[in-house]
Amino acid sequence: MIKAGMGIDFHRLAAGRRLVLGGVEVQSDVGLVGHSDADVLTHAICDALLGAAALGDIGRHFPDSDPQYKDVSSLMLLQHVLGMLQRRNWQVNNVDACVIAQAPQLAPYIPEMVTRLSGILQVGEGAVNVKATTPEGLGPLGRAEGIAAQAVATLVAADEAEDIVVGDKDHQTQEDDVPDVVD
Ligand SMILES: [Zn+2]
Repeated sequence: MIKAGMGIDFHRLAAGRRLVLGGVEVQSDVGLVGHSDADVLTHAICDALLGAAALGDIGRHFPDSDPQYKDVSSLMLLQHVLGMLQRRNWQVNNVDACVIAQAPQLAPYIPEMVTRLSGILQVGEGAVNVKATTPEGLGPLGRAEGIAAQAVATLVAADEAEDIVVGDKDHQTQEDDVPDVVD
């Protein structure tokens, strides 16, 4: 059985804060504001994973009001989420996420984000995808007032995991499989 979940998160940008995305510190004059390190990407992934397991959301498990989460690395929250999933016999199947940021240019940091996130999630790097897009100057995100992130995650029951082949490399798309494009 596979379960899917989605997560979305927003944080404001301000001077005097570090910018941490996917557990990686990104060089920037401004950083995200939040109770933890405000790692918007990791928060969206936490919410996608919690959603897939029908475990509510990150705010329920790690409330803003709790001093133990002040300035904490969000990778630690992700680690907690993984523990919750594992206790319920879930394992991560794949994660796909997108950061929506006007600046800075994130592409150089993405491989390291994938390495860190997949390490915490105990999956191969091929099971985690991080993308970045710009809002093209539109709205508050386009004015770089904040950064948003969205994620989708799928979970598989740990005892069924070996039966499910992720990214089946033996399966080559046959010409017959390709639908005719009417456009
Ligand atoms: Zn957040």
